[in-house]
Amino acid sequence: MKSSSMTYWEQIVEKPKHFIQQIIEEDIKSGKHGGKVVTRFPPEPNGYLHVGHAKSIILNFGMAKQYNGVCHLRFDDTNPMKEEMEFVESIKNDVKWLGYDWGDKLFHASDYYDQLYDFAIVLIKKGLAYVDSTSIDEMRDQRGTLTKPGVESRDRNRSIEENLDLFTRMKAGEFEDGKYVLRAKIDMTSGNLNMRDPTIYRIRHAHHQMTGDKWCIYPMYDYAHSLSDAIENITHSLCTLEFQDHRPLYDWCIEHCNPPGKPQQIEFSRLNLSHTITSKRKLKMLVDDKHVDGWDDPRMPTLVGLRRRGIPPAALHQFCDMIGITRSDSVINMSVLEECVRNELNQHAPRAMAVLNPIKVVIENYPEDKVEILNVAAHPNDPQLGSREIHFSREIFIEADDFMIDAPKDFHRLTVGKEVRLHSAYIIKCEKVITDPTTGNIIELRCSYDPATLGKNPEGRKVKGVIHWLSIKHAKTATVRLYDRLFNTENPGAEEDFTPFLNPNSLQTVEKCFIEPSLTNAKPEDRFQFMRLGYFCLDRHSSSTELVFNRIVNLRDSWTAKA
Ligand code: ATP
Ligand code: MG
Repeated sequence: MKSSSMTYWEQIVEKPKHFIQQIIEEDIKSGKHGGKVVTRFPPEPNGYLHVGHAKSIILNFGMAKQYNGVCHLRFDDTNPMKEEMEFVESIKNDVKWLGYDWGDKLFHASDYYDQLYDFAIVLIKKGLAYVDSTSIDEMRDQRGTLTKPGVESRDRNRSIEENLDLFTRMKAGEFEDGKYVLRAKIDMTSGNLNMRDPTIYRIRHAHHQMTGDKWCIYPMYDYAHSLSDAIENITHSLCTLEFQDHRPLYDWCIEHCNPPGKPQQIEFSRLNLSHTITSKRKLKMLVDDKHVDGWDDPRMPTLVGLRRRGIPPAALHQFCDMIGITRSDSVINMSVLEECVRNELNQHAPRAMAVLNPIKVVIENYPEDKVEILNVAAHPNDPQLGSREIHFSREIFIEADDFMIDAPKDFHRLTVGKEVRLHSAYIIKCEKVITDPTTGNIIELRCSYDPATLGKNPEGRKVKGVIHWLSIKHAKTATVRLYDRLFNTENPGAEEDFTPFLNPNSLQTVEKCFIEPSLTNAKPEDRFQFMRLGYFCLDRHSSSTELVFNRIVNLRDSWTAKA
């Protein structure tokens, strides 16, 4: 994706093609698949999508876009026990949020149940599938190991007629769950365990969200997936590396069922991100055990979570472009994603001022009733983002830690007798600190301002520090949520139990902080840079009476420095 954030060199030096682009280009050249490119993103609707899925979505839709092809959105809905419409809808929203449109190419594996059944009949008739009554436990024992060949089932040599009869009766609902399965007859001694007569159909008397009660036998993933690809005339079936050992079975199904299409499975390495988990099952545990406030908690690596946090989709595109497509497994540090987010927001987020931990400053030589309205650019380099009005008056808030009583020499903010610039306004000088006589706590600062310094430094005057501020009379209030990483360890997914590694400080809520009035016009999901504090996003669920801003990222990578 070309973005204006690319450097001059990045724009003129073409990035080398990754291996999938190379394969596709060769296939187009050789006329394989008639020169067409048809990809698919095949989620199972059993949970919310996460950042890893974004890599797959961007790859599949991206390849189709780049090579004038199409990308299908197909729900691999072969397990009615775990799938729900709620997930279907959220997945569609996530794909759209990433900027993709599947047009009329929305499919479900369940659309093909009739065809998949017919293919199974073909396999039985060819003597390549049999109905087996072996129990699950027995089957597991008979499967063998990598060093020990499997044992053939006693039902393996059933006659074709008997298999046809039993399979038809399985479909008709004559048998209870688990009584029989249909297995492909391949090779119980194969070095690849997936080829040791895998189950391709099982009995499940379960209601399916698309087909209702029509079926009580459901196809297994490998069988349904390969043939669904073929039925849709997918040309390049891009999936993650863990499916590599399934490829012989994928190819076997296509070879022996002889569907119209001849898709090619190509594997790439999955995205693993540090300090978080990318397994739907484990993410569900975080939600179910209430470690987070739901699937869209802004700390979650789900796409709904990232969206609510305020991560722009363009940053995810930039990130995926940066990490590239390879076949080597690695864990990408979260800082890489955060840097893409900063890069994107630095260019596009309007600036605003907020004070999270205020102390009061009284500017003694500023008239009591005077108010100045300053017109300040929303962005230092992008005039198209317009401007905003900021009020200046005698009493202002500054951030408590921008003042120090006994400041070291290199403290360039405010201290008694020293000057500092108020952003977009005047230079002020601290004259006096008023403290509580019993506690010693600072109550307020007494300052003076120099009227000749509005927005500029007079000749020969050096003021190093610039701080943010708000007019007390005009400031509005908001709640701010400061997020940190959800886990304290790099690879929580590798831990048996990840709960001890949850970061207890991953959320800090500042109930009442102050914001400039222009922010009350913000719409949910609008993003800003709060000067010197980080990038923030108005929460999607924020109401107009109580504004809630989520911190997306800090201005700088404080984490890598800490680690
Ligand atoms: P999980 O293991 O979290 O349940 P899954 O792989 O089972 O995820 P699917 O719905 O089957 O989830 O995934 C849809 C597609 O997304 C698959 O093609 C899968 O290869 C891809 N995918 C899943 N996780 C990642 C990841 N971390 N990086 C890249 N692609 C991924
Ligand atoms: Mg899967």
